[in-house]
Amino acid sequence: MNSRPIPLANCDLYPDDIEAVADVLASNRLAIGPWTTRFEEALADYVGVRHAVAVNSGTSALHLVIRSLGIGPGDEVITTPFSFIASTNCILFEGATPVFADIDPETLCIDPAAVERAIGPRTKAILAVDVFGHPADWPALEAIAEQHGIDLIDDSAEALGSDLAGQRCGSFGRAGILGFYPNKQITTGEGGAVLTDDDEMDALCRSMANQGRSSDSRWLQHIRLGFNYRIDEMSAALGVSQLGHIEEIVEARAAAASLYRETLAGIDGLTLPPETSEGRMSWFVYVVRIGDRHSKAVRDRILAGLRDRGIGCGDYFQPIHLQPFLRQSLGTGPGLCPICERIGERTIALPFYAGILPTDVERVAEDLRDLLDEMDSGA
Ligand SMILES: *Cc1c(COP(=O)(O)O)cnc(C)c1O
Repeated sequence: MNSRPIPLANCDLYPDDIEAVADVLASNRLAIGPWTTRFEEALADYVGVRHAVAVNSGTSALHLVIRSLGIGPGDEVITTPFSFIASTNCILFEGATPVFADIDPETLCIDPAAVERAIGPRTKAILAVDVFGHPADWPALEAIAEQHGIDLIDDSAEALGSDLAGQRCGSFGRAGILGFYPNKQITTGEGGAVLTDDDEMDALCRSMANQGRSSDSRWLQHIRLGFNYRIDEMSAALGVSQLGHIEEIVEARAAAASLYRETLAGIDGLTLPPETSEGRMSWFVYVVRIGDRHSKAVRDRILAGLRDRGIGCGDYFQPIHLQPFLRQSLGTGPGLCPICERIGERTIALPFYAGILPTDVERVAEDLRDLLDEMDSGA
């Protein structure tokens, strides 16, 4: 058996990315410098918003957005349980209450009908996620937000390069965020950004990311509570260089997704990831699902089988409302979001990155088919 390891993820670093970082180091200006400004301008331009505030993580960006909207104790924010934990944690940072609305079983993004049902007198905002790169149903969410006079936030950490009818993800609602951890479409090592058209929000986020300084920073005037969420110049330069490659990266990842689509097409009982027909999908990960007749135990045995064969794989997302900390602090539990729970027990994230070899995709498909056959025959 061939068990040469196939990693779950890989970042796409180009020779000019490495040069960009080396140049910053040679310049001796490692923080608060021109690369941060350039990165912000390039991001705002690419996504199509007036402002980008580059920070040290996507989680920091989410925190700044929540705080700048004045969301705090007593407020509720409706959000998806099918996401990376940061999209819920940012609500908890400010003492507000996340209210989980179930997901659409096709797109895996928050279901606008469930959002509508979750709205109450304390609802302050909706925080939706472009899950795995698939755009959330922004037109429906915008209509709900407008009707109820509440804010809408676009967590687009997984969807840089995706769009809905030509409008890029990250630009929906009052503010959006991006993340640049190494598994994302582009990376800065650690990093993130707030995106907004709102001048005041831009100024507020910028100040809070920099110790609450007034914009006239010559006097080191601290006019509000702030944090150190600044990105450094090496990361910002890497971001500028990586963003210069975004279109090739999106295309190469789309090619990898088509390869999987063709290779996995014949496998009975496997649901392939959703693709948008209303815009462009920038693929973050490649997550398939086993059928409802199989249990979580079967999924976990398949994951173990793939790992035994040297194939990197993952079980995301585990529903956020079932995470131990959320259960303890909010008293959430099974039954709250049944669609998310059913799907969360059956996902298998497969090795996915630009330039994955066709022979590796073949090997993943064969092993997956064998393991599914074994499960079906009750072996
Ligand atoms: C990656 C990610 C973030 C940001 O994560 P950081 O590691 O803090 O950069 C936020 N939300 C979602 C949905 C993500 O996938």
